[in-house]
Amino acid sequence: MNNFEFKNPTKIIFGKDTIKQLETEIPKNAKVLLLYGGGSIKKNGIYDQVKKALANIELVEFGGIPANPEYATLMEALKVVKEENITYLLAVGGGSVIDGTKFLSAAAVFDGETPWDILTKNIRTEKGMPFGTVLTLPATGSEMNSGAVITRRETKEKLAMGGPGLFPQFSILDPQVIASIPKRQLANGIADAFTHVLEQYMTYPVGAMLQDRFAESILQTLIKVAPKVLKDPTNYKAAANFMWSCTMALNGLIQKGVPTDWAVHAMGHELTALFGIDHARTLAIIAPSHYKYNFDTKKAKLARYADRVWKIKKGSKDDKAYDAIEKTVDFFHKLGIDTKLSNYTDDYEGTAEEIAKRFTDRGWLGLGEHQNLSPDKVKEIVKMSY
Ligand code: NAP
Ligand code: FE
Repeated sequence: MNNFEFKNPTKIIFGKDTIKQLETEIPKNAKVLLLYGGGSIKKNGIYDQVKKALANIELVEFGGIPANPEYATLMEALKVVKEENITYLLAVGGGSVIDGTKFLSAAAVFDGETPWDILTKNIRTEKGMPFGTVLTLPATGSEMNSGAVITRRETKEKLAMGGPGLFPQFSILDPQVIASIPKRQLANGIADAFTHVLEQYMTYPVGAMLQDRFAESILQTLIKVAPKVLKDPTNYKAAANFMWSCTMALNGLIQKGVPTDWAVHAMGHELTALFGIDHARTLAIIAPSHYKYNFDTKKAKLARYADRVWKIKKGSKDDKAYDAIEKTVDFFHKLGIDTKLSNYTDDYEGTAEEIAKRFTDRGWLGLGEHQNLSPDKVKEIVKMSY
């Protein structure tokens, strides 16, 4: 096991009818900016629950944060933060609204030239404006981590940011919110959380026995609850297990003491930036090719995954490892998620070269847990995903 430090300060409030606890979590003297997305919260009753809980708190609202939170929209929100002297941010939404709120938390205290520098110059936020979240879509884990991904349509960029100051102070997770999520988004949430675990697990084994077991149990739970959640999102037991699995998949716990990969996300982000494909779907496009291309270095872990998660007991290590990749592809298909870029766009020629060029220009010369995935190798993997 590698050395590590672990601190996660986010308070989780989990369970039925917990949104009303907002009232006690937000400081009484705060001036709050309530941030939300395209309006789903107004249709499913979450907005009303939030407003009721905050009836005695000074509140300004900013709606319209789009999926893949857009820089230009967030800059409008930043104006409101400054003009209204906001002191506290409240995200009510999925990963996009929460990530957008993290950007605002960082941008509100940033004194550099332009907040876009936070993304391009890897500026880590040590202390941002305080914020909390009400999660409406299990998927990203953003409700209990300190990372965010921001999109800029103008330049077709999608970049990550973070820092210890960007953990939510609290996150409210009421599994009942899942009832109104469309099937497509439920499938995305399952696939995103599943791939988060793979990014932290499918690396060279370093003898981190507990982390491996944690990772495997999250994968097994997601596999078990996926059909139940898709069939009936009002099934509370399935919804609760789905929701907590997504949070646990990316709150830092399973990545401690182990090498992590994240190359699938790096390549996937480019597919969203270039084609607007849903985040989770880009991961399902890239992951199978990534594991096939890096078969030799990942074989030991792929075989363990085959054995423990998919219960593949027969065959050589190579056979098991290969079968596990096929099982993963099949899992995505059963979620209704296509795993080839050509399923999403006819305009895929040249994508591999474009992504390799972008990585070279940014100086991203060695991705993956061994920092040896050069832009040339990235090009091959993306080509295999066509
Ligand atoms: P999302 O983009 O936040 O939301 C997707 C859609 O689901 C929106 O149209 C939203 O509608 C709708 N929705 C949300 N909750 C709903 C509900 N309860 N009922 C009905 N509809 C609902 O999806 P996401 O997958 O959570 O977030 C994706 C973003 O997170 C991407 O930008 C991705 O790169 C990023 N990400 C971040 C991390 C991280 O650690 N920070 C990790 C992975 C991915 P409305 O807009 O109308 O509300
Ligand atoms: Fe993700």
